[in-house]
Amino acid sequence: MALDKPLVMDALRTVPDPGSRSNLVDGGMVERVAACDGVVSVRIKAAAGEPAAALDALAIRCAQAIANIARRSGGAAGEGLKGLTVEFVNKAGVVVHTARNPGAPTGKSESDGHRPISGLASPAGGAAGIKHIIAVGAGKGGVGKSTIALNIAVGLARRGHAVGLLDGDIYGPSMPTMLGLHAYDQAVMHGMLQPFYVHGIKAITIGKLVDPDKPLIWRGPMAHGAFKQLTEQTEWGELDYLIIDLPPGTGDVSLTMAQSMQLTGAVVVCTPQKVAQDDAVRAAKMFQQLKIEVLGVVENMSTFIADDLNPPREYDLFGKGGAEKMAARLGLPFLGAVPITVALRENSDAGEPTANFRKGTALCSALEALVENVEKQAAVAAIRAGKARPTLSVS
Ligand code: ADP
Repeated sequence: MALDKPLVMDALRTVPDPGSRSNLVDGGMVERVAACDGVVSVRIKAAAGEPAAALDALAIRCAQAIANIARRSGGAAGEGLKGLTVEFVNKAGVVVHTARNPGAPTGKSESDGHRPISGLASPAGGAAGIKHIIAVGAGKGGVGKSTIALNIAVGLARRGHAVGLLDGDIYGPSMPTMLGLHAYDQAVMHGMLQPFYVHGIKAITIGKLVDPDKPLIWRGPMAHGAFKQLTEQTEWGELDYLIIDLPPGTGDVSLTMAQSMQLTGAVVVCTPQKVAQDDAVRAAKMFQQLKIEVLGVVENMSTFIADDLNPPREYDLFGKGGAEKMAARLGLPFLGAVPITVALRENSDAGEPTANFRKGTALCSALEALVENVEKQAAVAAIRAGKARPTLSVS
């Protein structure tokens, strides 16, 4: 099948329309599509005042979607996308922005599960324009570390910050699912990995560098190399916060990763039970030994809120408050308690994290309080590290 107009339209149907809950095609945003010999041109309506960076990010998503569908449909189309121009037009039909060849998709390596991205620029300090880098760690897997990392990132973005999220959990990269990235391929532009622009944040995941169907045994140097690629060779641009989802535990890999970046601090995620606390204490101590400031402890799965009942009923399953006591014992700030809710699990599985911030829900209040505390503790840590000056506001 050739890479023709219907195929391109199918691809654009997988790209969410930022202005509605629909996709670009069904949202009526696509004005024109032309395709010939693998060279595609697309014309899309731009919302008034949309910044160029947002249009570029949307163009990259289009490129990823088209390249993906071309590769999957095999045959002539499988030869791939050779060139793409995305023009954005205003209400009057005037072109206001043009993106040429936004993102060069990479091929799949058949040799093993790891897909090293070739043709990347030599490390140029992709983190140079980032104000705060915050690692999210946990003593063990399954406590909701990735869930908390993602919701901190989305919550900070909702407070008006420019936020990046780096999924470095090599043992179980869950961000492709939690962010809804399955239909997209990793793009490379200017020799740098291009983060996915989704749910108001920029995200990059190790899950897009490994083949999900091939189990991987990570050796220390290999894990470190892949992590370095994600941190140093991603075009983050200017960010207020970069949230890093570390692998769980206190093994070599987490340790090296935590050390390899100039962190503002670390957040430790823990569930309330005594056995979980012991692991979390080890994680907190690991950061402290590495001279990384622990911004605080989050109690996840604090209580269970049955939100299908009216009024919602709360059950104390695991011993609410355990993590708060542990934080107090270690002299660490307590950042907040996040309940178990069906909504949080469902939104994570559906790749819809913004739905966790539905106003009026206990989940939303808990996440907003958590995010505000992370923001405060990061500011304090930056002042302590001499990176920022205290500001005095007089009213
Ligand atoms: P980890 O990164 O610690 O291994 P995850 O964040 O991947 O853990 O979470 C494991 C599972 O638990 C996921 O299915 C996630 O949706 C679910 N989960 C995590 N926290 C909550 C919560 N507070 N309420 C409901 N489900 C949760």
